Amino acid sequence: MSTSKEQIEQLRSELREHNYNYYVLDNATISDYDFDIKLKELELLESQNPEFFDANSPTQRVGGAITKNFNTITHKNRMYSLDNSYSKEDLLDWEKRIRKIVGVESVEYTCELKYDGASINLSYENGRLTSAVTRGDGFQGDDVTANIKTIRSIPLQLKENALKTFEIRGEIILPLDGFNKMNKERVAAGEEAYRNPRNTASGSLKLQDSAEVAKRPLDCLLYHVVGERLPFKTHAEALGNAKEAGFKIPQTLKVAKSIDEVFEFIQYWDIERHNLPYETDGVVVKVNSLPHQDELGYTSKAPRWAIAYKFKAEQESTVLHKITYQVGRTGAITPVANLEPVQLAGTIVKRASLHNADQIAKLDIRENDTVFVEKGGEIIPKVVGVDLSKRAASSQSTKYATHCPECETLLVRTEGDAKHYCPNEFGCPTQITGKIQHYISRKAMDIDGLGSETIELLFKEGLVSNYADLYDLKIEQIIPLERMAEKSAQNMVAGIEASKQIPFEKVLFALGIRFVGETVAKKLAKHFKSIERLMNASFDELVNVDEIGDRIAQSIVDFSNELSNTVLIDRLRSYGVQLELSAEAQKGQTDILQGNIFVVSGVFTRLSRNELKKAIEDNGGKVSSSISKKTTYVVAGDNMGPSKRTKAENLGVPIITEDDFLKML
Ligand code: AMP
Ligand code: ZN
Repeated sequence: MSTSKEQIEQLRSELREHNYNYYVLDNATISDYDFDIKLKELELLESQNPEFFDANSPTQRVGGAITKNFNTITHKNRMYSLDNSYSKEDLLDWEKRIRKIVGVESVEYTCELKYDGASINLSYENGRLTSAVTRGDGFQGDDVTANIKTIRSIPLQLKENALKTFEIRGEIILPLDGFNKMNKERVAAGEEAYRNPRNTASGSLKLQDSAEVAKRPLDCLLYHVVGERLPFKTHAEALGNAKEAGFKIPQTLKVAKSIDEVFEFIQYWDIERHNLPYETDGVVVKVNSLPHQDELGYTSKAPRWAIAYKFKAEQESTVLHKITYQVGRTGAITPVANLEPVQLAGTIVKRASLHNADQIAKLDIRENDTVFVEKGGEIIPKVVGVDLSKRAASSQSTKYATHCPECETLLVRTEGDAKHYCPNEFGCPTQITGKIQHYISRKAMDIDGLGSETIELLFKEGLVSNYADLYDLKIEQIIPLERMAEKSAQNMVAGIEASKQIPFEKVLFALGIRFVGETVAKKLAKHFKSIERLMNASFDELVNVDEIGDRIAQSIVDFSNELSNTVLIDRLRSYGVQLELSAEAQKGQTDILQGNIFVVSGVFTRLSRNELKKAIEDNGGKVSSSISKKTTYVVAGDNMGPSKRTKAENLGVPIITEDDFLKML
């Protein structure tokens, strides 16, 4: 018995090594044929000895598991986005801020390429892959572990001397060769070609059949080791260690001693990237020192210690046939260019955004013009200029729409607003359905069993004209509708019922108040704690909340002053929708630090830096990244930067210890 166990172990480790050599090092050490023989041998032994089953065995890479619904997993550490820069000046500004905050003369950076794919968070425990989760909204993502295991370059079991328990982030990509080959086969089979490698890679992660994923030539490039107390001093060291543990870390990574060396890296790769086997859309520059990264921390969206530099987007010219206008859920009008289809950066583009009336006037964009279209970081391409040499003499300048294309209402534009709006908030069909569609969407009330098309149908049939109406829907009303059956009607009503448990901050986002996005909704929910207090707040009270500006405050005041909204909210309350922060969310929160601004610096023993910041915010204080006259306290741990100390002393800002701080609470 024990001999077969040894045999199994031996084969597994041999196959792991071959996989690594082939898929990570790109250096085959065995023929495909011999590999297959050994794999078959292992499969046989495993089937004869089921007690030695191992979910991370090389035999598990062929897939087979079917996932009907991907589980939602909350990230242990939030997956942030990256701030973008487009010029040397942007980068210089960023570096200046960095030096100011960490208070040193010269900072070391790492330069990596920005791989264009889908981000993934891999968790390892005891040297074994335990889960793989997509970025999702940054807070929560989908568990795609079964699919990820089929990617041969991702180690399922790490080498001996590696870190044991940690998270590592990377990008799932589809190299160009593999992408083109897949497309050739599709076209030969009479199917439509995939549009670009990035979307195909991210689509692959959500396939239900992992055996199907196993057939796709996906790869994974890693760029970030995550953990609170890592035994590394620099980002480059952490990645070097991960490389030794068996991860694929591209050779292109470089440590730059100065911002000038960063520019050299960018210049080189701006050209050279076209010779890489995969797509990249920029360079990611990161502060190399981990204590400095820690000190710099995060904004509400992105790390302060990293920035993406975007390569200049590709451009094409094509004919603009017609300008049409789209109405958003808040009534905002977006002009759209309907184009002669054109191939751009690997995708076919038929429509492009024209942003607003000013943009059209500024570029003097007209129908029948030949225009330049560019694809930046955004998914929607934009028109960036007109080829005047191709303009017909009879061409007429564009007259911007005066009336809503959906309800014919005269459009309005308030001063300082770039967009025109259709003011017919409660009567414009697109706004009505758009608001309800937003309400049910995943990041809002996340109502299962109800989609955008169904909302349009329910509206057309006169069953709903606002989100509160959803809660009055009866199964008998739904069943007679087109394409509805008893089961789907039941699911719909159950989904609506379940939404009554969705926490207040999400409800607040779901209400669709103009300019109140996810992050703002969270801030407001935390501050005001109930819809009642929020709607009673004055403009001044609102702008006093951290990060709430005039525009958002005015929008909330307008929302609260509108009688129809008060009626809707009252109805939501009567149905049992969560309109205040749950007791649990309020636990551990006080106002005792209200009005105090803290700067946190150094390394702490009792709390991690993030826990410390959270404790400040949970108790009403504010965390700032640099010391100024406004700073109330500096909480100093070990290794606080000497220049920070001097600055605090010069400004007379009290420096307190972690223990002093905890006593305040
Ligand atoms: P964005 O999606 O534009 O906010 O950019 C952030 C994303 O860039 C991250 O979520 C990563 O998936 C991706 N990315 C690609 N390459 C890198 C890299 N070398 N370092 C950090 N992030 C990267
Ligand atoms: Zn309208």
